Amino acid sequence: MQQKKIKNYIKKNKVPLIIIICLILNIIMLLNYVIKINKPKSEFKEIKPLINFNKNIEIPKPKKIKVKNINPSIISDKTIYLTFDDGPSYLTETILDILKEENVPATFFVTSRQIDKYSNVIRRMYEENHTIGLHTSTHLYSYIYSSDENYFNDLNEIRMKVFNITGIKSRIIRLPGGSSNTISKKYNPGIMTRITNTLISNDFYYYDWNIDSEDASGSISKECIYQNVTNRIHNGTNIILMHDSSTKATTAEALQDIIKYAKANGYTFAKITKQTKQIHHHINN
Ligand SMILES: [Zn+2]
Repeated sequence: MQQKKIKNYIKKNKVPLIIIICLILNIIMLLNYVIKINKPKSEFKEIKPLINFNKNIEIPKPKKIKVKNINPSIISDKTIYLTFDDGPSYLTETILDILKEENVPATFFVTSRQIDKYSNVIRRMYEENHTIGLHTSTHLYSYIYSSDENYFNDLNEIRMKVFNITGIKSRIIRLPGGSSNTISKKYNPGIMTRITNTLISNDFYYYDWNIDSEDASGSISKECIYQNVTNRIHNGTNIILMHDSSTKATTAEALQDIIKYAKANGYTFAKITKQTKQIHHHINN
């Protein structure tokens, strides 16, 4: 009945069909617009779990930092990758000064613990051609290894902070304790296998180490750190585990001598990139 009335009206008033279609389309577009402007805007989409990890940063990029043409990576058949975990801290600048003086690159696996205080140091890392890797935000084993969701939320947090400071979306990861740590399974058996599989399937690259400076163990002298590193480096890839958290002053003290020894013995230095040969421990969970 209603349709007949409309038909008659159209016939009577000779309204062309095209105008009717246009009117309907306009109403649809207007409705879409109203729905869109009422939607709450989120600055950073959470990822649970890590699906489409790379597509979800939507906050505006910070001002671009110009990378200086210094500290070049030189890959040879005796390459050293210096890696520093748990920073930044007040010691990180000292380490950056030494790296600059020696003209060698390094890789920093950062946490959020003091990142707001040292955001200028993070900027400097990037500006001076080092790799900024992600080590999780809190580094709290009891939290990050209690569920997959906690781990990836925590990783997202540090990833977002690094992005906010530098504009880079780092895909280079180091798991707290390494992938072979024996603690994560106490919080959630099998979690290390699941985390590493999710990382790999989302094009993230995790790096353990094959040379331990042992600077994580209590108070260790700079001589000991020097011996541990220089006695263990060998032909091929050397990924050296060190720390730049605030209690690791002896690491900073040993660094320059380690670099000088390595240079004198034909080693070259490089930063970790996606192309670097991955050193993975045996997963223990
Ligand atoms: Zn750590």
